[in-house]
Amino acid sequence: MNPGADRLAEVRQRIADAARGAGRDPADITLVAVSKTHGADRVREMLEAGQRVFGENRVQEAQEKFPDLKSAYPDLELHLIGPLQTNKARDAVALFDVIQSVDRDRIAAALAKEMVHLGRRPACYIQVNTGEEPQKAGVAPADIDAFVATCRDTHKLPIVGLMCIPPVDEEPALHFALLTKIAARNGLSRVSMGMSADYETAVRLGATHVRVGSALFGARA
Ligand SMILES: *Cc1c(COP(=O)(O)O)cnc(C)c1O
Repeated sequence: MNPGADRLAEVRQRIADAARGAGRDPADITLVAVSKTHGADRVREMLEAGQRVFGENRVQEAQEKFPDLKSAYPDLELHLIGPLQTNKARDAVALFDVIQSVDRDRIAAALAKEMVHLGRRPACYIQVNTGEEPQKAGVAPADIDAFVATCRDTHKLPIVGLMCIPPVDEEPALHFALLTKIAARNGLSRVSMGMSADYETAVRLGATHVRVGSALFGARA
């Protein structure tokens, strides 16, 4: 076994246990392995252990690592989980299968334009700033319903879910419950929340996607 395989098996087991404990089907939860800062060799290790869904927070770093891996593993699914600049929208649409960090009108418009241009439609999530932290990306909870409508009706974006990163110093459960509630009232079926420290809590509160980095790959430099 490669070292990544053991950690992968443990995280998957914990997700399954948390799901069953909450009366959910473990198959309804997707593990997004967050490989930022780790090299392509570490990603390959996880691929060999059976993992197929990965998350990166920078377009350029992902461009350096993933094109070859995607050719070798055509069923690899790559998620952008970090902030996006408009000048990277084309590259993001070209490379990523899912974009989890749509958080403002300019980005929504830029993504829509590039999707038409490239003929490729990555599924999109809107990032919600559940803690209303001024320094953090994401749409405020009060503005979400209107922003979802704009993304759908004006930009015709394929919006499928919501994503959040709770404040580090607060109980994440409150934020997870809020995100699930906002998703439900907007008819969005996917909810991306929970990281290494709190993914089991997120599963209990309705996450369909958990984004786990250090618990799989070890600490980042
Ligand atoms: C880095 C990162 C993660 C993973 O964090 P870990 O604590 O290492 O699991 C999840 N989501 C986002 C948006 C990240 O940037």
